[in-house]
Amino acid sequence: MAELTVRIGGDDIALLRRVLGAHGAGAGPAAPHRVVVDAHLAPRKAEIVQLAQVAGIPMLIDPQTYYLQDYQHPGDSWAALPYAEAAIATPADLLNPTRVDQVVATCVEFQLQHGASAILAPYVHIESATDGWLQVQLALWAATHRYLAAQQIHVPVIAVVAMGWRLLHRPTWPAVIEPLATGVEALGVQEIALAASKVDQGAHPAQRLADYLATMHRLARIAPVTAWQQGVLGDVSVAGGAAGYETGIGRRERCDLRVAMTNRRTAPDPNAPRGPRGVFIRQLNRSVPKRTVVAISTDRRLMARVICPDPGCCPMGRESLLGDARTHALISRKTSLLQQQRISRPSWGWNRLAAHADEALDLAARLAATRQRNPAITRIDIGALMATKAVADHHRQALRHRKAA
Ligand SMILES: [Zn+2]
Repeated sequence: MAELTVRIGGDDIALLRRVLGAHGAGAGPAAPHRVVVDAHLAPRKAEIVQLAQVAGIPMLIDPQTYYLQDYQHPGDSWAALPYAEAAIATPADLLNPTRVDQVVATCVEFQLQHGASAILAPYVHIESATDGWLQVQLALWAATHRYLAAQQIHVPVIAVVAMGWRLLHRPTWPAVIEPLATGVEALGVQEIALAASKVDQGAHPAQRLADYLATMHRLARIAPVTAWQQGVLGDVSVAGGAAGYETGIGRRERCDLRVAMTNRRTAPDPNAPRGPRGVFIRQLNRSVPKRTVVAISTDRRLMARVICPDPGCCPMGRESLLGDARTHALISRKTSLLQQQRISRPSWGWNRLAAHADEALDLAARLAATRQRNPAITRIDIGALMATKAVADHHRQALRHRKAA
């Protein structure tokens, strides 16, 4: 069954309590299949772990070891973790055997200590075949394998394969994907999390998405692959063979680890407002700022396409959508995932995605036209929709040809 893994923030605890039924009510329809938290939250927000454990839902701690590849402000919460370092590390630094072993041991123990139900092996973001980070990743996996064996730790292991979109392209596979696949195989994993940055961006997102799905297929020969940090590409990834996908709620729906790395360079400001959280629009398969939904409230035809069509999720329409956008996002994403996976014939699955993408592109165009009169409406990035449409069309045509042949 395809699974929805949801990244829980420090401000999602009350929500988690509600959807996981912490008071004996049992997990409700909005309960994710699995939760993941950023490592720096695990010690400070222990209730997230407790709630998941009581509800019997797997819980992961993302060590975010790719932050080692950039510098952080010394006061940064990630930099204070036992395996972290505020100073930037070079591949040479991390290829030092003592350092690799130290990062692996402290990173694995940290996750176990804070209640993770599986270990995410330490990982780095690879953007080139030749800059040394590929070798660092292989060294980290080899050291993880050694450490788990030596300590007789028998917890499931997940390998995060994190890379820039360029390396998804098939001609670069012999230099990057194949050595990584060998490394993952030697590590012995229960699952692979494929975190590819900027798949939905650029002039040719359809090509990037096709490359992403092809890479996923290659890695799925080793273990089931979860589309990591791919909220805007979740359903299409599952149609393409992913075992599920991971996303934040109303934010962190896209993977861009390079940008994430540079966000921690400045001093943390405890009084700074949290990043804005969007409202998930099922038809667009992404979240938009709340003010966009408010701005079109008077346009009844447009509003009818933006509000949630599921009376079981949003019985009061607009009020429910804006009143509890996070629960709506969880139910909506789960429902869509279930629908996608219930389709038994691949051609119907691609048809559904192509039809959805058509409707979504039309809605995005209408929102863009309305934006001319009402600047409160934000621009909708249509890269993921265009890519989904193109990939779905390609697959259903290929299936038709195969049938005809
Ligand atoms: Zn809803």
